[in-house]
Amino acid sequence: MPELPEVETVCRLIRPKLVGRTLGASRVAWERTLGDLTPRRFAHRVRGARARAVRRRGKFVVVELERDARPAGGLLIHLRMTGRLHVDPPDFDRGPYVRVAVDLDDGNVLHFLDVRKFGRFRHVAEPEEALGHLGPEPLSSEFTPERFYADLRSRRRFLKPLLLDQGFVAGLGNIYVDESLHLARLHPLQASDSVSRKKAHALHRAIRTTLAAAIEREGSSFDAFYRTPEGQPGSYQDQFQVYGRDGKPCLSCGRRIAKIVVGQRGTHLCLRCQRRYPTRS
Ligand SMILES: [Zn+2]
Repeated sequence: MPELPEVETVCRLIRPKLVGRTLGASRVAWERTLGDLTPRRFAHRVRGARARAVRRRGKFVVVELERDARPAGGLLIHLRMTGRLHVDPPDFDRGPYVRVAVDLDDGNVLHFLDVRKFGRFRHVAEPEEALGHLGPEPLSSEFTPERFYADLRSRRRFLKPLLLDQGFVAGLGNIYVDESLHLARLHPLQASDSVSRKKAHALHRAIRTTLAAAIEREGSSFDAFYRTPEGQPGSYQDQFQVYGRDGKPCLSCGRRIAKIVVGQRGTHLCLRCQRRYPTRS
């Protein structure tokens, strides 16, 4: 499932093809992709609107729209498991999994493909409000080591499910949580309020380092689905220390990487490097 680095890569590649374009007619092959709106209502909302900006918030692609230089809501696109976005030339055949297509005024077409159909391509009137439940952006300046430490202390949850909670910090998923915890030498089942300031700062640094390195490599292509909008796989999977490496030697200490289940998610860790330490009573 695409996480922050993959969604960031999608935004970077489609931005130059979308910003400044005016949207035209739309075609919808799977209505639930639109969320609450009917295809007719959706078409009415987007037609004639101009794409002002393309940005990422958590795992969402946000296309901000305007009409006569006034805000006109935005497209909130969530790729979920298998969603993909492409801007294609006219009459380009994207195959059977196109769920939404929107014409652009330069003749190109914005395509949303989704094999498994869990993805969403919604228009919302107030993007900020619709994204209000999300926690801080881990690469932003508001995400400071001290704030992160205070946030960990104020919860009493296991680290992994807490880091996966989009309301705690936005954009992390299974892969980058496992990788960050390993880099910080923390156990996924460590209680968040038992993490020392030093360790919290190490985890903060690990999250940012891991995400930045993955963005640099245009994300990870861990299965058949994730490709950049230019059709290329990302290459960060070559750097994985623990994710998907169960049974293989830890690159730091040589012990075999273990796979356990945490909150129904397959979780990869080194039991020697990532020891669980006693929780305060
Ligand atoms: Zn190890």
